[in-house]
Amino acid sequence: MAKSSTTSDARHDTTSDTGDATTTPKGAKPEKGKKGKKGKHGKKAEKARAKAADERAAAQAKATAKAEKAQRKAEKKAADARTAAAADLIARRDAAIELLRARPGDLLTAVDTAATPGFDGSRADGERALAAIGEQLSGLQERLFAHGRTGGDRSVLLVLQGLDTAGKGGIVRHVLGLVDPQGVALRSFGVPTAEERRHHYLWRVRRALPRGGSIGVFDRSHYEDLLVARVDELVAPEVWQARFDEVNTFEARVAAAGTVIVKVALWVSPDEQYRRLRDRLERPDKHWKYDPSDVDARMKRPAYEVAYQDVVDRTNTETAPWYVVPADNKWYARLAVSALLHRALSDLDLGWPAPAYDVAAELARLDATR
Ligand code: AMP
Ligand code: MG
Repeated sequence: MAKSSTTSDARHDTTSDTGDATTTPKGAKPEKGKKGKKGKHGKKAEKARAKAADERAAAQAKATAKAEKAQRKAEKKAADARTAAAADLIARRDAAIELLRARPGDLLTAVDTAATPGFDGSRADGERALAAIGEQLSGLQERLFAHGRTGGDRSVLLVLQGLDTAGKGGIVRHVLGLVDPQGVALRSFGVPTAEERRHHYLWRVRRALPRGGSIGVFDRSHYEDLLVARVDELVAPEVWQARFDEVNTFEARVAAAGTVIVKVALWVSPDEQYRRLRDRLERPDKHWKYDPSDVDARMKRPAYEVAYQDVVDRTNTETAPWYVVPADNKWYARLAVSALLHRALSDLDLGWPAPAYDVAAELARLDATR
């Protein structure tokens, strides 16, 4: 406020300087012939006013510079806090991830869906931590992207599974949204199209695998062919039964070709799922997210639990492990997946690619064009 009034005062003064306020009464026109001529006294006053205006302008510039400096300082402080939070988080990252890793004998029905394993902060802490880890993810992803651009074959594949409302879409928005979309290859798998049905169930999956340099994200995946296909009896039991081994072989090949596979089962409680479905029905802005088949699938939850348990038990390999993420707290699930991605990307241990040209020679060529 103070700043703008100073500015307008200064402007006002400058305007009045064009007339001769000291010798001409307000509203009266300067006498003809005298225009432009000023007495000694008038010149002195004008000088004083100019000086005062200069001083005000200088003071204002100083105040602006001070405010800008304070803002830069505050921004740096916030950035430093985020970096410190990220460093702290990353120091505890692997221990937290270990808690999510599916282990033989663990029952999905025993998962505490409201828990936040490995993270004891609040939701606000979690959101801050996600922003902090996001900055790092973005840097790591840029290296992966650069690696791909220079012919590298490494990539990451994040497989997101979960019952309706588990938060798969939110992970895509809030976690993958933290990195450059150029480097993300998202594929959502719905009911197979007529063309897809004419092929082997892995056909559409192979076509969607990430290329070198990118992060592939599957929103649902080939696992639907072991879940909905089994629960809804879309294929005979011996057909889906053969798929566990087939999927393991497939994923081992994908991993051998350079893709780090991270499989996440987002696990929500029936109560939380009820609340989320209800929300979708109550809010016009969420109606589009609801599908009447969601209630049908919800009624089959016991069958889905059995099918998911088999999937997690039988396709939990070293090269393509499953992580079961409690998902009643969306912020936690997002943070957990960001930690998983962070580890996958940092384990690639990619440096910046060496240029395929002579840097010194190119510098000389560029400078010659100046
Ligand atoms: P959504 O992810 O909510 O958009 O829903 C996609 C729907 O497609 C879900 O009901 C899935 O069960 C279904 N779906 C995905 N893959 C398959 C598949 N291979 N066979 C049958 N249904 C599938
Ligand atoms: Mg749905």
